[in-house]
Amino acid sequence: MKLWYPQYAESQSRFLTYTIVAKALMAAGHEIEANPTGCDAALYSMCDVMEYPGLVKLRARTALPIIVGGAYALNWWSAILYSDVVWLGEVYDMADCRTLDELMASPHAYTRGGGLPVVSTRVEWDTVPVCQIEPRKAYYWGGVGCKNKCRFCYTSWTHIHQVNSPANIEQAKRVAKRQKLHLMIASNEYEDGQGGTTQDMLLVDYIRRPVRAQLIRCGIEFATEQSRARMGKRISREDIWRAIQKMNADNCALRLFHISGYDPVEDWETYIDELGGMLERCPNHKILHLMYNNLQYQNYTPLYAERRRIDPARYIDHTVTARWYDRLRMHTQHVLVGAPSPYAHVACRMGVELSREREQVDWWLDKAKNPKAKLTTQQAHDALLSSGVLDTPHYRLNMKTAQIELWEGGGAQ
Ligand code: SF4
Repeated sequence: MKLWYPQYAESQSRFLTYTIVAKALMAAGHEIEANPTGCDAALYSMCDVMEYPGLVKLRARTALPIIVGGAYALNWWSAILYSDVVWLGEVYDMADCRTLDELMASPHAYTRGGGLPVVSTRVEWDTVPVCQIEPRKAYYWGGVGCKNKCRFCYTSWTHIHQVNSPANIEQAKRVAKRQKLHLMIASNEYEDGQGGTTQDMLLVDYIRRPVRAQLIRCGIEFATEQSRARMGKRISREDIWRAIQKMNADNCALRLFHISGYDPVEDWETYIDELGGMLERCPNHKILHLMYNNLQYQNYTPLYAERRRIDPARYIDHTVTARWYDRLRMHTQHVLVGAPSPYAHVACRMGVELSREREQVDWWLDKAKNPKAKLTTQQAHDALLSSGVLDTPHYRLNMKTAQIELWEGGGAQ
């Protein structure tokens, strides 16, 4: 096939994904083109909902059939509204298709109608390239999915967990070293901390092991021990206290990721007070950076079953994080608190992702990008409940067969 892949030719970002896709297709004998003339189809990779406006623009640019792939493709009911084929899963089975008709007939392709698709999980790990993304930086694909199954995590519920081999990773490190490139291994594997100046780790591992890094990044996610145990990682107050003390021993900065929108704001106030007390007892020398995201109820996750109980009063904005920053500054000079997107933005993201009709997706896209059409929190919440998007059935990926199935008891409530 001759395929037009404008993102590969034109975009500066997400180079790793585009390169893996393009190289796999070219290795199988397909031609990847920078312009549409004479092509069989156009390719569009979508990581998440923020790339939907790009799909709408591509639709306006071409009459070629558009094939959408990437993590967002698991939301095929939404992706198909501005495309012709949605390819679910990895690219290697797609590369084996010799013609567009063959591709469209694949069980991994959704083309309106038909049964529920099967996700393609085949990865040719030995052919994954080291991708240089900046003059001195390269990425290498270390794995997909995650063996943890946090209740809110789209990544782990839409990918069967697979890892690249240690031999391939070592070889990639040698290649990067020869070329004097700093190599980042992209995966959700936390055990061995891949080394480097920035390391992503589970907090419970961080407090148990010596590390040599300038910045450690850990997910705390929820405000209380109970919420954390229910939704994701079992992290106790004591674990957090030990991490705060270890920062000084390691002489490193710590970035903690949090997800607001689920716990009542009072629980977060208590969390911030407790953190302030810890910093008072053990003043940190390097930056403690608290990051906040507001929670999205995404299909495939167990949390999606609770989508009708979403409570805008639990969502925070920059005024709340500014207040928390001021409070923590009473105990330390070395702290930052990042603000999340407000509730209306989260609602728009959910609205686009769960849309099953053009009318719905156009409405939510307009609210998301048009400042004059901006919704208040109440308007956004009312629209989420009344627009029908929450009726999108609850799906799950069967982790043994890769078949998408209806999640019994998790559909329209
Ligand atoms: S939040 Fe992190 S640890 Fe939890 S399932 Fe997702 S990738 Fe894995």
